[in-house]
Amino acid sequence: MNSFSPTEDTIAAIATAVSPGQGSVAVIRISGSSAIEITKAIVHIPGTHDWSTHTVLYGYVTEADQTMYIDEVLILIMKGPRSFTGEDVVEIHCHGGIIAVQKILERILDIPSVRRAEPGEFSQRAVLNGRISLTQAESISELVSARSRKAAELAINGIEGNIQTTIQSIRQRLIEQLTEIEARIDFEEDLPILDEQHVKNEIIAIKKEINDLIDNAKRGSWVRSGLKVALTGKPNVGKSSLLNRLSKQEKAIVTDLPGTTRDLLESEIVLEGIPVTFIDTAGLRETKNIIEKIGISRTKKTLIQADLIILIFDYSNGWTSEDESILKQLPVNIPLLIVGNKSDLKSNQSFKKVPKNILEKENLVIISAKTGNGEENLINYLLKKCGSSQTHGLDIALNERQLDLAKSTMESLENINKVFDENLPWDFWTIDLRQAINYLGELTGEDLTENLLDNIFSKFCIGK
Ligand code: GDP
Repeated sequence: MNSFSPTEDTIAAIATAVSPGQGSVAVIRISGSSAIEITKAIVHIPGTHDWSTHTVLYGYVTEADQTMYIDEVLILIMKGPRSFTGEDVVEIHCHGGIIAVQKILERILDIPSVRRAEPGEFSQRAVLNGRISLTQAESISELVSARSRKAAELAINGIEGNIQTTIQSIRQRLIEQLTEIEARIDFEEDLPILDEQHVKNEIIAIKKEINDLIDNAKRGSWVRSGLKVALTGKPNVGKSSLLNRLSKQEKAIVTDLPGTTRDLLESEIVLEGIPVTFIDTAGLRETKNIIEKIGISRTKKTLIQADLIILIFDYSNGWTSEDESILKQLPVNIPLLIVGNKSDLKSNQSFKKVPKNILEKENLVIISAKTGNGEENLINYLLKKCGSSQTHGLDIALNERQLDLAKSTMESLENINKVFDENLPWDFWTIDLRQAINYLGELTGEDLTENLLDNIFSKFCIGK
């Protein structure tokens, strides 16, 4: 467990979304040794009552001069350690919107012994007080921001502790190897000879497990943040029509992203639990027009960041030199799907098929955005790219912070290989082994400085 001492001051924050006309109930959280005293000071509770733990009281929050009520509330009392943070926690359930809830928070914050909670501070206290592990806290935050069912499922797995137990068990195995080696360094003559091959095999096995976690993290990041698909092609080939059609797809749930100003050229659908954002980009072509040049450089930036590029061309017109020129400008390292649209139209005489050399390299799907013909093939391709096959069996997905540490762990374990190969003394083995153990400890939160913890939790939302 962490060696940090529990913090003394009491903190308060609004734990629910604050928006006028939204949410009929809002929750304010107070945590710390004076949580109950503070609540007593701001409420009027009619009738007889007592403040024992895990009870709900009904009452009113009053103005400071006690003359008026601010709101009618329910008060949940959870004395430590049986609370989210492990400290005394009071939750005030008031009416939603913005005014009442903010007035209540201000009323609380006017009391000297309490201060406004920093982002993630409740969770940070829960971790410091040993109520939850660091990776569990991170998973809670991921559940709150989940945009797809699969992302929520992964977050729940994390809350249940699967990241923690997996990493802890790997770390434990490394500690066992380290102990074996160190014992030999200290008491070589008293112990049986070290089975070096066994140590090597164990490290190889552990490397494989960490590698799998690293691979899964990539898939997990698609599940969490979704897949970005850039649509490109000449004007009028049917990019917007295709977007429209996909948004109406039965398998696709069109989601409105609250709080974001939706660019007209972007739309998000959820395919098999993965949010897929389609970005309709302007065509790429040679131009001297300055404005168009700016547009094209923006398009190029979008394309580089995409997980998949779909190049649409007019199948009824055939593959043209303009299509070819767009193709040549696409970044080579991003997967590409070529879509021939308008298959419902009769091809004209100058019809030119997609050249064989391109087809050999790229995937081609023929569709009609108008009739929907071929749409299933396109959806299946997307699903293959991002959907069921990618997320099947995926139950642990490290977040970015955890992934960085998993990669650093791998590097340390790779270094041990060199030490093996060069037949260096055991002391050398222990350096990298110890480093790997430290990285994994940082991942689980067992080996963390307070600064690092502050940094992690500052990315959480307020009230969490
Ligand atoms: P964009 O400029 O690439 O976004 O192309 P649009 O989606 O605006 O489509 C250009 C024109 O092609 C419109 O008149 C569409 O109705 C038409 N169009 C798009 N897809 C199809 C299709 O599959 N078949 C037919 N016949 N017309 C289409």
